[in-house]
Amino acid sequence: MEEIGPRPELSLARGDILIKDVLLSGKTVDMYIDEDGRIAAIGEGVGRNHRNESTRVIEGRDRVATPGFVNTHTHAAMTLLRGYADDMPLQKWLTEEIWPLEAHLTGDDVYRGTKLACLEMIRSGTTAFNDQYFFMEHAARATAEMGIRGTFAHGFLDFGVPEKREAGIKATESLVAHIRSMDNPCIRASVGPHSVYTVSVEGLRWCSEFAEEQGIGIHIHLSETEQEVVDSILQYGKRPPQVLDECGCLTPMTVAAHCCWLDEADCALLGRRGVHAAHNPASNMKLAVNRAMPYHWLKKSGANICLGTDGCASNNNLDMLEEMKFAALLQKFSWNDQTLLPAGEALEIATAGGARALGIGTGRLEVGAPADLILLDRHAICNVPLYNPDSNIVYACNGDTVKTVICDGRVVMLDRVVPGEEEIRRGAALSAEALLQRRGDRE
Ligand SMILES: [Zn+2]
Repeated sequence: MEEIGPRPELSLARGDILIKDVLLSGKTVDMYIDEDGRIAAIGEGVGRNHRNESTRVIEGRDRVATPGFVNTHTHAAMTLLRGYADDMPLQKWLTEEIWPLEAHLTGDDVYRGTKLACLEMIRSGTTAFNDQYFFMEHAARATAEMGIRGTFAHGFLDFGVPEKREAGIKATESLVAHIRSMDNPCIRASVGPHSVYTVSVEGLRWCSEFAEEQGIGIHIHLSETEQEVVDSILQYGKRPPQVLDECGCLTPMTVAAHCCWLDEADCALLGRRGVHAAHNPASNMKLAVNRAMPYHWLKKSGANICLGTDGCASNNNLDMLEEMKFAALLQKFSWNDQTLLPAGEALEIATAGGARALGIGTGRLEVGAPADLILLDRHAICNVPLYNPDSNIVYACNGDTVKTVICDGRVVMLDRVVPGEEEIRRGAALSAEALLQRRGDRE
C-alpha cells in the first residue's frame, strides 16, 4: 500500500484528516476534514488538493462511510445494571429490583458506568447521545474524556412533594451551571422532567420556564404505557401530551421518548409544536408496553422522529445498528405494513433525525457539516454482497462492523481500538460489584 502520510493518532487532539477512497452514498470519494472539525471537501480526487505533510490520512478503500449515530434517549450509566434483572412484570421489576439498586449508586459509579456506555457507543458508531439520569456532572466528565457529544439532564421527579421539587430544581440549576463552566461545545445540558406521572404540574411548569430562560432543551418520557394515559385522564381529565403542552413542555427543543400510546390528535399536537419523538423499540418490546410508536401518524404530523436505545436495564445494549433493525421490524409488524420504515428511513432517523433533535447540524455528510462520521467494514460478512449499503447496515450488520469513529473532527476509535478500553471495562466491573455489595446481595 502506498505510504501517503502519517496515520491518525488516537489522541483527542484535532488536526486535518483526509479519508481516501471511501464509499459514500454509492460513490467512491475522498473526504477532507479541516482543523475545526468540519467536513471541508468531498469528492473524487479531493485528496490531491488537500494534503500536506501534517495531514493525517485514513485509507478508506475498504470502508463505507455514514454519519455517526445519535442516540436520543438513554440513561448511560445504567450499563452497570445490565442483566441485573430481566423478564419480570414492569412494576415489580422497577420497584423491587431497579429502584432499590439505583438507590445505592454514587457519583463515581455514574462516572464509571458512563465511561463504559461511551466505550460501547463508540464501538457501535454512536457519536452523540441524550442522557437523563443522576450525578450528571460525573456523566458529563466521563463523556468529555471519551470525546463524543452528550446532552445531560438531571432526572427531575417530585411526585407532587414540594421538598422533592426543590431538590430537583437545585440539582437541575447546578448541573446547567456546571456544564456551562465546562465550556466544551460537545457537552450540553437540558432539563429532564421525568414524565407526567412522576412530576407535578408545578414541577413541569418550572422545567419549561427554566429551559426557556436558559435556551436549552427538554428531555422527557411520554406516553410509554397505556396506564400512563389512563392515569393522566383520571388525574387531569387530559391525555399526557395535553398536560405537557399546557405546562409549556412541548417545544421545538423537546425530545419526547417512547410516544407509544399517542393517538392521532396527540401526534398532530406534537407536529404543531415541532417536538422530536424518540422511538425506543427494544425497550418497548422488552417491557411489553403493548403498542408501537405510531410512526406513520407522527410522520404525517411533521414531528421529527429520532431513535434511542433507552438504558441498559431495558435493552440491554446501546447498539444503534440493532436498534434501527428493531425499529424497522417493529413498525412493520405492529402496523401490518411491510412498507413502513424502510431501511433508508431507519438510517435517517438514527442519524439526521437525531442530529436535528439535539441541535447538532444536519446529521448528513456534506460540506460544512461537523465531522461526526463512522467507517464500516466494507468486506464484513454482513456487507457481502453490497447491493445496497443502507439495507445491509440496517438489516444485516451490527455494531461490530464499525471500524473507525470520528466525532467533531477527533478520531475516537481507529480500526476498533479505543484508548483505555481495558481500564474502563475493569473500572465498571468493580463499580458493579461494589454496588451489589452495598445493596447486600453479596456478603
Ligand atoms: Zn428512559
